[in-house]
Amino acid sequence: MKYLLVLAIVLVVIWFLRTSRRADKPRQDTAARAPDGPAQDMVQCPVCSVHLPRTDALPGPDGRLYCCAEHRLRAGG
Ligand SMILES: [Zn+2]
Repeated sequence: MKYLLVLAIVLVVIWFLRTSRRADKPRQDTAARAPDGPAQDMVQCPVCSVHLPRTDALPGPDGRLYCCAEHRLRAGG
């Protein structure tokens, strides 16, 4: 009968480890999804002066980079 109790405790421990590992998974995913480079190339929108990554910026007809299409239109006229 003692072994049955030990088996029950082992099963509880395994279940506990599984649930805690599942809880840790999202944190690992966010860490893995961090940008590749140590520093991203940041640009500034000339309309609202907000800083944003160059990859998210919209190039305007004048060659400048804007945060959104609305500001690109506002600057371009
Ligand atoms: Zn802007």
